[in-house]
Amino acid sequence: MPLSGSKKSSRQGSLTSIDAEIRQRTSQGVLSKSEIEELQTALLTWFDRNKRDLPWRRTKDPYSIWISEIMLQQTRVSAVVPFYERFLARFPDCRALAEAPEDDLLAHWAGLGYYHRARNLQKAAKELRESGFPADYTAIRALPGIGEYTSAAIASIAFELPHASVDGNVLRVLSRLFADATDIGSGPGRKHFTKLAEALLARDRPGAFNQGMMELGATICLPKNPQCLVCPGASICRARRSGRQNAFPVKLGRMKMVEERRRLFWIQQEQRLLMWQRPQESRLMPGFWELPEEAQLPEAKASRPVGTFRHGITFHNYRFELYRADAGNLIGPCKWVPIDALEQMPVSTVVRKAQRLIAGKAAHHAAKTIKI
Ligand code: SF4
Repeated sequence: MPLSGSKKSSRQGSLTSIDAEIRQRTSQGVLSKSEIEELQTALLTWFDRNKRDLPWRRTKDPYSIWISEIMLQQTRVSAVVPFYERFLARFPDCRALAEAPEDDLLAHWAGLGYYHRARNLQKAAKELRESGFPADYTAIRALPGIGEYTSAAIASIAFELPHASVDGNVLRVLSRLFADATDIGSGPGRKHFTKLAEALLARDRPGAFNQGMMELGATICLPKNPQCLVCPGASICRARRSGRQNAFPVKLGRMKMVEERRRLFWIQQEQRLLMWQRPQESRLMPGFWELPEEAQLPEAKASRPVGTFRHGITFHNYRFELYRADAGNLIGPCKWVPIDALEQMPVSTVVRKAQRLIAGKAAHHAAKTIKI
């Protein structure tokens, strides 16, 4: 598709900066200059027409975009929306976030997991409280908790700075567009694909282009069964041309999931529950409240099993067995906590799942009692 006037010259200008490797690839016919321009136009048009209406896409406020990008790092879009809205209502700017008590901050993050993200947000907010959000890629990249992908996403979406953001979805799209078998799981592989993404980036609309690539990976160029018939990149996609869409991306040395069984105790006295708090220096979720296990209460006596549930953290697949138990007088590092305070406390997703299991059993028992 030909480009008109200023757009064309702007994109042609961007292509002068592509590195030697890309130039070599395009000269070999891997993706020609006109194909790159065609892709840019098709992708932007497709994105403008088909983008999902998400709350962070209705703003250019860098603070809001930053919060959304951090939440989206390890969490699905649909799961993030309610958390994002609740978080911004409570902490509408850097100042509010910087001054938030830690318990309040973690309670508003609870359910999203990977809590170091919330702590880093607050650390960065404290740095930005007076100066406001920087409109500069290097300054954004230097903030706590912000890596290459996130800084490029914020810089391009909030400030239209020409940096390509490459997440897992974009890696998949790129590897298929170029039919490139470089390992997407390796550091050099990511660097290689970032260079390709920089070469494709539409410099006149980098924010929309980056979001378009991510959206394409999330909704069309799916891991299984990519929807090539409706893809804006179909006419130039090398994997599609050779019918090898499912051969890409290539990811070597995937780590195996480790299965682990754990026993949790639900020890309740009237409306109080026995829990322990992770120390502030804990590597995992410092300050969070947990249900005790044998490590905290070696003398606890399990009375009856409540049920089991699964929970995955990175490469661990846990099977938790929940027991009602009695701690006697030895409560070790635990404390009695009012059950109705749990909602406002930083508690892990494991605790929330255990709570739901207990509530489900109670409801089942009540229904049975009424039936009898
Ligand atoms: S044509 Fe198919 S494989 Fe190629 S980018 Fe589009 S959806 Fe992915």
